[in-house]
Amino acid sequence: MSSSPSAENYARVLKGLHKTLKLSGRAENAALLTAVSKNQPWEVIRPVLEAGHRRFGENRVQEAMERWGPVKDQYPDLTLCLIGPLQSNKAADAVALFDIIESVDRDKIARVIADEARKQGRAPQIYIQVNIGEEPQKAGILPAEADAFIAAVRGYGLEPQGLMCIPPVDGPRGPYFALLRKIAERNGVGHLSMGMSDDFETALRFGSNEIRVGTAIFGSR
Ligand SMILES: *Cc1c(COP(=O)(O)O)cnc(C)c1O
Repeated sequence: MSSSPSAENYARVLKGLHKTLKLSGRAENAALLTAVSKNQPWEVIRPVLEAGHRRFGENRVQEAMERWGPVKDQYPDLTLCLIGPLQSNKAADAVALFDIIESVDRDKIARVIADEARKQGRAPQIYIQVNIGEEPQKAGILPAEADAFIAAVRGYGLEPQGLMCIPPVDGPRGPYFALLRKIAERNGVGHLSMGMSDDFETALRFGSNEIRVGTAIFGSR
């Protein structure tokens, strides 16, 4: 029985995820759902946790520490993904809290994360954020610079496990998802974090294996 709106939305999004994977000839577990809990009150997050979900996305380190710090030990199988920009002065906290840092997009932050990971003996997974539509206002490494950047990050002793992108809002998203996939494939990177509330079905059809869904589960922020 799920009486809360967020638990119902969660069930619906999961169903949509599984259905789209099936229609694309992929296994039901071929893609993960990251529930994006940024800016949401605990009352809407808790029902989704209670429904058994354990993978959440946050875009600010401080907010994530306040929200998840006190409850983290209660849920040993929790996976926390940082999907927002990371400043160097927050890198130590990010390495300590997050299991995945999806927004690595410049040399300096890659180095600082590598240093912190060594210092703390903790190794969050690293994803590279690609500014797939080459939009000036968006974070991410440019597509043309992605190969060199991935190689540089490997040089710092980090292995990029995934690529993340947020395509432009206007026009079809498919070509951007296809491009991210191509960059991942030619660099031997396995995880494709792409697709949000309004385009996750498209992203899945283009090979996404991690979708990041906020408003479709928790409502508007
Ligand atoms: C906020 C955010 C999301 C979730 O967006 P919705 O449209 O609410 O699903 C996904 N990815 C990133 C990087 C975000 O900042």
